[in-house]
This record gives sequence, structure tokens and C-alpha cells, in this order.
Amino acid sequence: MADAADAAIVNAMTVDVEDYFHVSAFDGVIPRHTWDRLDSRVCGNTTRLLRIFEATGVRATFFILGWVAERFPALVREIAAAGHEIASHGYGHRLVYDLTPEAFRDDVRRSKDLLESATGVPVYGYRAPSFSVTARSLWALDVLIDEGFRYDASIFPIHHDRYGIPTSPRHPYVLQRQYSLIEAPGSTVQWGPFNLPVAGGGYFRILPYAWTRWGIRRLNQAERAPAIFYLHPWEIDPGQPRLPASLLGRFCHYFNLSQTESRLRALLVDFRFSTMASVLRRAGFDVHDTSPAPLPYVW
Ligand SMILES: [Zn+2]
Repeated sequence: MADAADAAIVNAMTVDVEDYFHVSAFDGVIPRHTWDRLDSRVCGNTTRLLRIFEATGVRATFFILGWVAERFPALVREIAAAGHEIASHGYGHRLVYDLTPEAFRDDVRRSKDLLESATGVPVYGYRAPSFSVTARSLWALDVLIDEGFRYDASIFPIHHDRYGIPTSPRHPYVLQRQYSLIEAPGSTVQWGPFNLPVAGGGYFRILPYAWTRWGIRRLNQAERAPAIFYLHPWEIDPGQPRLPASLLGRFCHYFNLSQTESRLRALLVDFRFSTMASVLRRAGFDVHDTSPAPLPYVW
């Protein structure tokens, strides 16, 4: 159990709602036009996550793919009805730096429209597929502001072959473009000159659970800061069909799938969690404040 020292820190629980075949590791292996023919498992897996969150009294933020919302609007409504925050993971799971600004605008607008028409509730948050807002796609932030988003959760302050801006801030901050946008980065701990990722996805599923527990404790206790945790519905689904990919791609996608649900249950006992909007509000950032006043951090 979390001890008294970190009892007050509430961490963000976030889920990127996509199917197992949307994952970037399968780009070029599973053509997009075949997605509709594959056995979709996203509703069953997301419903299992909803039951786990209900049993533990946790509210989370669900960054939902527009492609999923278009086919399963009832799932979006079910998530919202359970009191969770609805946010966008884009429409077609395309990496931002592979798109033109116009194509990116179409992608995020389409997803936002689908999510808002499913629930009637405005969507303020966005997370890019594979954290693909990097130094070469910072223009995406201006598009997000234009399209009415108030926060982004796509800039990971690490070195990675597919994503990351290693020198970017490690805790929630405000990006000052022409107007401001709140940034909620993936969680890291510092180790010498390096930022090491500690809270979600493959870092949670592949590495021992003790790594995540140590990392979040360190953030909560030593830095008095929240962690921003993320996972995917397919990560609790050991029965999903096996798709062809590179050896490394298959390892990263399939390793420890049978362990993730029990680890998640342990995590929900060990730490406190709520939605991203709630965690940002506690940190002094109101995602519902749409005034364009200049804010302190200048990128
Ligand atoms: Zn994704």
C-alpha cells in the first residue's frame, strides 16, 4: 500500500483505446484496408478495464482512436457514462511526423467530431500515436490549439527510435505557441544525464513490476509529482491473434501479456489514480479554461 508520505499524490491513469492490429509495430505488415476484416477485440478488452476501474473506484482518461469510435460509439458512451474522461488518440493511428499539417488536422478533427457526437461532451485532450510529436512535428501543437484542444500528452522526454524530445520538461507544463497548450509528458525518472521511462506501455509490461513501483514512488515521494501512467486494452489480452512482424516487434507486443492484468490490479492498490484533467487541475492547469492568456513556460 502507498504510505502516508505519498498518500496525497494522485497519479493520472490513461488508456490508449485501440485494437491490437493498430499498433505501429504492425505498420507495413497489416494493410489498413484489411483492418475491418480482422477480429476486433477492443470492446471486450476495454470493458474488462472498465470493470477493473469500477472495482477499485478509479476514474481514468481514455484516449480513443476515432476509427474505434466510428465503429463502436456505444463503447465511447459506456466509458463516459462510467465517469471517465474522453480524449482523442487521433483517427487512423498515423504517426504525426509522417503527415502534412493538413492531413493531421483532418485526422484530429475527425476523431474529435466522432467522440463529441458519441457523448455530447467536449474533448480537450490529445495523445499522438506512438508519442509522435517530436522536434520535427511541433507544428502539430498549433493545429491542436486551433482545433480546440487544451492539452497534449504526446511529448516524451526520452531518447527512443520512434519518439521523444530528450531535453523537454519532465512534468506537466505549458507550451507557449501563439496561444498556450498544456503538455502532460510521459513519466520518467532521472538517472545521470538520462531520463528513464517508468510508467506505462512496454515499460510496465516487459520490465519487472518493481521498476514501475520504484519509479512512481520516487516521483511521488522525492519529487512530490504525479506519474502519468498509460496502457492499451490489448495489453491485457493474452488470447489475441498473433500477427507477423519483426522479431523485436513481436517481442515488444506479445511479451508478458498474461501478466499485465494482475500487475495493473497491484498498481491500483499501491497508488492513487484519477483522470488526466483532474491531475492537471491539481497541478494548477485548468483544461477547461479556454482563455488565451500568456502563461509562463516558453518553448
Ligand atoms: Zn496508439
